[in-house]
Amino acid sequence: MLNIIVCIKQVPMVSQLPWDSRTGTLKRELAQAMMDPASRRGLEAAIQIKEQQPARITAITMGPPMAEEILHQARALGADQGILLTDRKMAGADTFLTSLILARAIQQECRGFDLIICGAQTSDSETGQVGPQLAEELDIPAIGFVNHVAVKPTTIEVQRHVDDFSETLEMDLPGLVTVDLTAYKPRYLALAGVEQAFAPQGVNLPAISIVDASQLGFDGKFNALKDSPTRIIDVFSPAAQKETRVLKGSVKQVVDQLFDEYGKIIGGAMGKDLKTHDHDGVK
Ligand SMILES: Cc1cc2nc3c(=O)[nH]c(=O)nc-3n(C[C@H](O)[C@H](O)[C@H](O)COP(=O)(O)OP(=O)(O)OC[C@H]3O[C@@H](n4cnc5c(N)ncnc54)[C@H](O)[C@@H]3O)c2cc1C
Repeated sequence: MLNIIVCIKQVPMVSQLPWDSRTGTLKRELAQAMMDPASRRGLEAAIQIKEQQPARITAITMGPPMAEEILHQARALGADQGILLTDRKMAGADTFLTSLILARAIQQECRGFDLIICGAQTSDSETGQVGPQLAEELDIPAIGFVNHVAVKPTTIEVQRHVDDFSETLEMDLPGLVTVDLTAYKPRYLALAGVEQAFAPQGVNLPAISIVDASQLGFDGKFNALKDSPTRIIDVFSPAAQKETRVLKGSVKQVVDQLFDEYGKIIGGAMGKDLKTHDHDGVK
């Protein structure tokens, strides 16, 4: 049986995310939470694999206690088990520590996994670093931004778009893929799924396990906020900048000025090297 792990993150609904322009911070606590759309596509990829062959799906998330909600949602959609990594000591983890904590939990709680699926990047912090860093931490191969996964006996075949062409790649298992937003349209949550997610479980098989920092072997001094090597210096909304200039003179003079002063910008947008001599014929 294929052992699949899907990493899912709970994110605020961005459309509802209030912004404090004075402090430059997002008021996450005021927004409704949801499963990160890329993670949800990763889960859909796992469910579609499970529909084709025997597989067991473990959904794992690191976040505050309320992140348990998305594990119930994942189970209702088709995951067999959920793992919540939560602890105040883990709060404020940057992507490096998030990957390290996820890796440690996977090594400890999910021995013998075959495939890890992550979203390519989240809808809130969207660094796109957790998947590749997690693969590095676990010392397994990884392919990013895939839009289709086909499982073979000991490998997977994946497809992805790169620039203007499509690639088909094969990767040994165990391995990790990140799924992009164009792939795997998420299914609706069926009522039967919700019923199944809340059905009583066997004693040896908790539907959702909750794991803290000490259970993962982090000592009492561990503090993700302080121990994270990345610092957020500032968060700000870039001010829109507009400029109105009136270019005067003959048509040739105006065009010359336009190309001299803005040729680089216009050419950059067109993918061309626009220089003054390109319009010598203009009078
Ligand atoms: C108590 C607590 C509070 C937290 N509060 C916040 C918070 O306020 N804001 C915040 O952004 N983060 C918070 N985190 C989580 C952590 O800091 C972020 O998950 C991490 O920095 C991911 O960055 P990203 O969104 O850029 O990931 P990306 O690299 O863009 O994510 C790509 C993919 O990696 C996987 N992934 C990413 N993060 C997680 C995760 N946490 N669990 C499982 N899979 C994941 C998903 O598949 C995702 O689609 C908290 C964690 C804890 C324990």
